Amino acid sequence: MTSHEIRQQFLDFFRSKGHLIVPSAPLVLKNDPTLMFTNSGMVQFKDYFLGNGVPPSRRIADTQKCLRVSGKHNDLEDVGFDGTHHTMFEMLGNWSFGDYFKRDAIAWSWELLTDVLKIPKDRLYATVFGGDTAEGLASDEEAKDLWKQYLPEHHILYGNKKDNFWEMGEQGPCGPCSEIHVDLRSDAERAAVPGETLVNKDHPKVIEIWNNVFMQFERKADKSLVTLPAKHVDTGMGFERLCMVLQGVEYTYDTDVFTPFIRFIEQHSNKKYTGSYDRKSLTDVAMRVVVDHIRAVAFTIADGQLPSNNGSGYVIRRILRRAVRYYYSFLEIKEPFLHRLLPLLANEFATVFPELKAQEEFVKKVILEEEKSFLRTLEDGLERLEAVEIKSDFLDGRTVFELYDTYGFPADLTRLIMSEKGIFVDENGFKVALDEQKNRSKADAEKQVGDWVILDDTPKVTFVGYDELSVNDSKVLKYRI
Ligand code: ATP
Ligand code: MG
Ligand code: MG
Ligand code: MG
Repeated sequence: MTSHEIRQQFLDFFRSKGHLIVPSAPLVLKNDPTLMFTNSGMVQFKDYFLGNGVPPSRRIADTQKCLRVSGKHNDLEDVGFDGTHHTMFEMLGNWSFGDYFKRDAIAWSWELLTDVLKIPKDRLYATVFGGDTAEGLASDEEAKDLWKQYLPEHHILYGNKKDNFWEMGEQGPCGPCSEIHVDLRSDAERAAVPGETLVNKDHPKVIEIWNNVFMQFERKADKSLVTLPAKHVDTGMGFERLCMVLQGVEYTYDTDVFTPFIRFIEQHSNKKYTGSYDRKSLTDVAMRVVVDHIRAVAFTIADGQLPSNNGSGYVIRRILRRAVRYYYSFLEIKEPFLHRLLPLLANEFATVFPELKAQEEFVKKVILEEEKSFLRTLEDGLERLEAVEIKSDFLDGRTVFELYDTYGFPADLTRLIMSEKGIFVDENGFKVALDEQKNRSKADAEKQVGDWVILDDTPKVTFVGYDELSVNDSKVLKYRI
C-alpha cells in the first residue's frame, strides 16, 4: 500500500464511523502565546475542549501537520540519528467532543489496525495508565478491561504518568491515555526477549504508533480534579510510523514518504544511501537530516513563518542551517541545494497539503536566499571553528557566542559539531556572553528611543539545557522609521 492509500484508508475509515474530515491547521500559531508551532492534532481543537467554541461535528478526523522542535516536545536532536522521530510529521487523528468514549475509541483503533490494515494481532501491545498515588490518580481499569476483549493480558501494560496521563496545562482538561505499540522484531528476536519488557523503552523495533487520550477530568486552579460532564477523545497516530509498519520496512526513511527524496539526493550528490544508523555514518545521517528538514522548513514558510532572527522564525532558520551544514560537510554539496527539493515536495503533497504547491515559487526563493547567505558564512565559520584553540575537551562559551554573533552559527550547530568530536561546550560562558549582548542592545534601545518604534520587546533567549536553545516567541522586530 502506498502512503497515499494509507492516509486515505485512515480518513475513509473514520468517515465511515460518522466523522467529519477537516483540513490540517497551519503549523504556525500566531495567536497562542503558550505555543510556537502546532505539535499535535488537538491543538486546533483546544477551544472546543475548553468549552470556548462549538465544533462543526461531534466527531472529527484529519491528518495534521505537526512540528516538534521547541518547548516541551523537542525531537530535533534525534532527527537523522533514529528512524522514528521527525521534526515535521503527520499526525492522523480522530476526535470525539462529548460523543463516544473509551469503548468505541478502543474498538475502532483495533478494527482499523487489525481488520482494515491487517497488522498481525500478536504484534500489538496497549498501555494504560497505571495510576499515581502521590497525585491521587487511580489506574485506568476501564481501558484495561476494554483491551482485554482484544489482547491477552500480558500485552496490556500499565504506564506511568509521563507516558499515560495527558494534561493540557497546569489547569484544564486532562485524563489517562492508552498507547498502541507494534513489535517489529524478527521471530527469533521475539522468542529471545519478551516484547512487554521493551514497550516505551526506545527500542528501535518496538515502537509507539498511536495514542488515545481520554479526557475525563478537569484540573482546577486549586489542583483538585473534577469529572467532566462531557467526556472527550483525542487520538494521534504517527503517519510515517504507520507507513513503516504497513510497508514492512524498519525505519520511516525507507517508506515511500521519504525514499523519492533520498533518491534525489543520491543522484545529485553522487553518494549512496546505505541506511546505516551508526552515528558515525554521516553520509546517511546527512541524507536523513536533509529529507526531514526540508519538509519542516518548506511547510512552515508556506504557513506564514519566514526565517528570521527571533522567535519561531529563528527556530526555522536554525533547522534550515542545520540541513545546510549537513549537506555541505557530509554530502560535499557546496552550492545551495535544499530549494531544489521543493518541486518534488510540492508535487508529492499537492492533494494533501495544497498550500505548498500554491506557493511553490515563493517558498523556493526564500529557501534559496537563506541558503546563499548562510553558505557565504558557513565556510568561514567552519574554518574559524577548526582554528579555535580547544583546551582538552572543552570549548569556551565566548567563542560559541562569537560564532553565533559574527557568522550566524546557531549555538546548537556549534554544539553538534563539537559533540561529533567529543568536545563539550562551556554553556555558562555562552550564557554570560549572551546576557551581556542582551544588556547592550537594551541599553542601545534605551538610548535611541527617539528614533525607534519598539513594536515589541527585544529577543529573549534563554538557555534551558544542554541540547536546546529556547527562543521566546513573544518579541520581535524593532523598526527604524
Ligand atoms: P515518542 O514516545 O515516540 O517520542 P510521543 O509519546 O512523544 O512519541 P505522542 O505525543 O503520544 O508521541 O504523539 C502521538 C503519536 O505521534 C505517537 O504515538 C507517534 O506515533 C507520533 N509521533 C510523536 N512524535 C513524533 C515525531 N517526532 N516524529 C514522527 N512521529 C511522531
Ligand atoms: Mg516524544
Ligand atoms: Mg511516547
Ligand atoms: Mg505517546
